[in-house]
Amino acid sequence: MTDYEPVIGLEVHAQMLTSSKLFCGCSTNFGAAPNTNVCPVCLGLPGSLPVLNARAVEMAVRTALALGCTVHEKSIFARKNYFYPDLPKGYQISQYEEPFSTQGALDVEVGGETRRIGITRVHMEEDAGKNVHGVGGDSLVDLNRAGVPLCEIVGEPELRSAAEAAAYLRALRDVLVFIGVNDGNLEEGSFRCDANVSIRPRGSTKLGTRCELKNINSFRFVQRAIDAEIARQTAVLDAGGTIKQETRSFDPETGRTATLRSKEDAHDYRYFPEPDLPPLMLDEAFVERERGHVGELPRAKRKRYVDTLGLVPATAQTLTQHPATVRFFEAACAVFAEPVKVANFVVNEVLRGATLHGTTATFSVTPEQVAELLKLVESGTISGKQAKDVFAAIENTTKTPLEVVEERGMKVVSDSGELEAACARVVAAHPSQVATIKAGKKGVLGFLVGQVMKETKGSANPKLVSEILERLVGG
Ligand SMILES: [Zn+2]
Repeated sequence: MTDYEPVIGLEVHAQMLTSSKLFCGCSTNFGAAPNTNVCPVCLGLPGSLPVLNARAVEMAVRTALALGCTVHEKSIFARKNYFYPDLPKGYQISQYEEPFSTQGALDVEVGGETRRIGITRVHMEEDAGKNVHGVGGDSLVDLNRAGVPLCEIVGEPELRSAAEAAAYLRALRDVLVFIGVNDGNLEEGSFRCDANVSIRPRGSTKLGTRCELKNINSFRFVQRAIDAEIARQTAVLDAGGTIKQETRSFDPETGRTATLRSKEDAHDYRYFPEPDLPPLMLDEAFVERERGHVGELPRAKRKRYVDTLGLVPATAQTLTQHPATVRFFEAACAVFAEPVKVANFVVNEVLRGATLHGTTATFSVTPEQVAELLKLVESGTISGKQAKDVFAAIENTTKTPLEVVEERGMKVVSDSGELEAACARVVAAHPSQVATIKAGKKGVLGFLVGQVMKETKGSANPKLVSEILERLVGG
């Protein structure tokens, strides 16, 4: 049996979050009634002319910059000719020989290691429509999506396993969602992935014949689809067969890939420069302005949270899963500058009541409410345990934490007479623990503090309790 090495390259189509299409003013709104977001331009009616959407260009350039690509001053739109019922013009406007950006890279973490995967190019193109099959026995065409702006991100064939491919895809999705150009939604088709998969004997530098897996529509399936294709190609070669270049689809039910069609080569599309659009010219000032909008990317943010703010990696990871969580955390830190305390509270409490979807998020509290709550704990006005109750009381309200504390008379008990009595009761009730402390095991004091907190229903000032106990036990 030959030992094969998989060679995988991903092509991702990411929908730019513009409100109108790439070459006309039609809405890009998802879920509208079929064929309502259409006009002569995106229907490809004779005599209509495309006009490039400036907002889409900004987002595409931002995407390329975030992926470290070189943005070219001049690029050319091209017609990609093919027939399909969802393509009324008979061609798709894309970029071919002269895309607006090339040669970037994406750092991907796989199994604790960082791998840098090359990005061949990022170019702009318009989406096609959608065929809807089996409606009362008919197949229908919905052209709402025709002309929606896409960025195609072509990765180098440098991925060596299905797990690496899945990690690359997640890292790419995170970057696009962070810079606000895409909602990362595979299920609604706004982030789509095709995988080119081939295998070769390990040690060989020659590429094997590749097959393209089309439109894998969930992160879960990416890994399974690629693994299934690697297994299929291995079995074919081991049996002495050859791999045919073709486009295949993955069936999650059977866990197998199957032939869709024999694969076209670029020359089949008869690309030529789009005569209705002038070359796209991007001046340096424009590119630099977009560079300023890229902001801090998820990986850099995680590193800074750990290195500079002192967060543990797992917390940094959780906070940077969504841009809205990052904004929440940073806004709370702006009011209460204790990043570790804020981060822990956000991860443990706030995220439980949050809903994150695409680029949007809703939280049950505001960053200001959380900052004020943590300040009350910091000043000793309430205990950490009381903070959880206050949190529950301010969720989905406009109340301030202080209002709740006052309403419920929740202030921490710092009255030393009252605490002294509670401490004395606990010491009397736990003679063996007291003996242990006296014998030098200071750590057991924490147990006694816990008992006092329990007795006072969490309202005692733990610092004061600790001081009193130390004095009483005298260990
Ligand atoms: Zn239109």
